Amino acid sequence: MKPAERETKRKNKNRRAAILCCAALILLLPTGLSSCDKITGSSAGDPVRREVFAMDTIMDLTVYGADGGEAMNQAVDLIHRYETLFSVTNPDSDVAKINRADGEAVSVSPETWELLERGLAVSESTDGAFDVSIYPLVKAWGFTTGKYRVPERAEREQALKKVDYRKIRLLPDNRVQIEKGMELDLGAVAKGYLSQKLMELFRKCGVDSAIVSLGGNVQTMGRKENGEPFVVGITDPADGSGIYGTLTVENRAVVTSGIYQRYFTEGGRQYHHIMDKSTGMPAENGLASVTVVTEDGARADALATALYVMGEKKALEYQKANPDIELVLIRRDGTCFTTSGLSFRRNRAAE
Ligand code: AMP
Ligand code: MG
Repeated sequence: MKPAERETKRKNKNRRAAILCCAALILLLPTGLSSCDKITGSSAGDPVRREVFAMDTIMDLTVYGADGGEAMNQAVDLIHRYETLFSVTNPDSDVAKINRADGEAVSVSPETWELLERGLAVSESTDGAFDVSIYPLVKAWGFTTGKYRVPERAEREQALKKVDYRKIRLLPDNRVQIEKGMELDLGAVAKGYLSQKLMELFRKCGVDSAIVSLGGNVQTMGRKENGEPFVVGITDPADGSGIYGTLTVENRAVVTSGIYQRYFTEGGRQYHHIMDKSTGMPAENGLASVTVVTEDGARADALATALYVMGEKKALEYQKANPDIELVLIRRDGTCFTTSGLSFRRNRAAE
């Protein structure tokens, strides 16, 4: 397939994800609102809803309560601020600054420093399955630039020499230093960090009920206006467009990493975007997607990526040792496993 065709496929995928996003939210909206109505600044008590395209995905935000309009305006500003700070491709971002520092320490925003600190904690607890210094490998595969290709083994090995989260130094005064040749990519945690900070912002603005859906990342606060808990759809990884099942949650982030979110096909084989450092290849272990449900969005996002790489057995061991998280593991054969603390309903139409 030509690069342009692959790019089109990716864009179609993004569009499908956006539609799914709307579809999932239909479950959440009060009767009478269609999924794609855009409400900006409605009367007190009505939900305020906004769609924003950022971080290469469509973000769908809904807040309930009297101060929703002002909260929403601040939320949109925050989204654009974080997009500028964390983008690996924007030369003005903190990440780009770190990546071109040639081994020197650079000053970054407190949020970038904090996000790295959070990410490193997950790298340590997952033995590097999640590693924000993965960018040389991601770049070799053409993910993030859209120029997809399968790199030769020698090239993968070369890229992997530069991947090691233990060499990221977080210094006082919000400074960060990485070795010459290393490069960071926060794509596996930035949206989760954003959804967490959106909830904190909403709370500060007096909002006590909200839901945001940022691509594969959903986070909720409180309950719907009618007093019922939010219901979040889990995408069917078999086609990336249907709903496999639903989760009923309160004050939770629901974050999914899966093979359907970004991929390309070459020589009849499909290659997705979640990398296994031990091979330099997309992780292959029988899983099609991992959904992590927990309170903190950043932790959920980093862990969804890590546990996908680790595979079912290790993911379940990890969950046993960390009972603050709950999991939905969907296998390539279409079967699933859910941990016991979840209120999960399989969509029978997806069977
Ligand atoms: P997610 O959708 O949250 O699982 O993030 C996937 C994105 O994170 C990819 O598109 C890469 O940019 C990056 N990535 C891929 N593999 C890893 C990994 N093992 N650790 C950290 N980031 C990764
Ligand atoms: Mg992630």
